[in-house]
Amino acid sequence: MKKTIKSTIGAMLVIAASAAGAADHAAAAHWSYEGKTDPAHWAELDQANAACKLSKEQSPINIVESQAKKAPLAALDLNYVAGSAEVINNGHTVQVNLPAGSVMKVGDQTTNLLQFHFHTPSEEKINGVHYPMVAHFVHKNAEGKLSVVAVLFKQGRENKTLAPVFNALPAEGKPLQLASFSPADVLPAKRAYYKFMGSLTTPPCSDGVQWQVLKHPAELSKKQLAAFRKLYKMNARPEQPLNERVVEVSE
Ligand SMILES: [Zn+2]
Repeated sequence: MKKTIKSTIGAMLVIAASAAGAADHAAAAHWSYEGKTDPAHWAELDQANAACKLSKEQSPINIVESQAKKAPLAALDLNYVAGSAEVINNGHTVQVNLPAGSVMKVGDQTTNLLQFHFHTPSEEKINGVHYPMVAHFVHKNAEGKLSVVAVLFKQGRENKTLAPVFNALPAEGKPLQLASFSPADVLPAKRAYYKFMGSLTTPPCSDGVQWQVLKHPAELSKKQLAAFRKLYKMNARPEQPLNERVVEVSE
């Protein structure tokens, strides 16, 4: 059962694992956010996780607004379609798996939306401060390159689009099917964003991931945040060093 639940995330991680020559790795080592398998130990848990320690372009980062470089960034052209969705609890987060058909274009690059999932608090910090939650929209292009759009959430009004998800957050092994869900409606209308290169924020921490963090947050109610935190009190990797990277921001 566990294998089935993890297969979606697994499919994503295998790309990175095979690059490291570990494609035939039987099962990913257990990891967590607290205790003996916490983020400080991820690299030691499995050779496939070496990037968690060695890569100089890890996520998440603290975005310091005054240090971001203003740039004529291409608009995020999101052609997300409404359709069925599957909500799973994979033991690390709650994830909404989406059918094929939702596409993001940035300049001349086209990439396909696979899923989105949540972290509390937000993994990203803005000027040193976490938001209560973030959703990561994970895309993959034809070459297997990953591109993530991060949507920050502040506490406020009930999020009606996400109500069907937060009203019935599933337990592990009990996927929830939604007949109709519109991923585009999760995103705020304003799409200014920060752009930088980073990594997966979970093992194996593979780098080469293009990040876009939306400047304007969406909202979730106190009740919705509490419902998620009943399942996951904290599922955020700590801030990673920026090193030589430059964060760009839409003009
Ligand atoms: Zn994430």
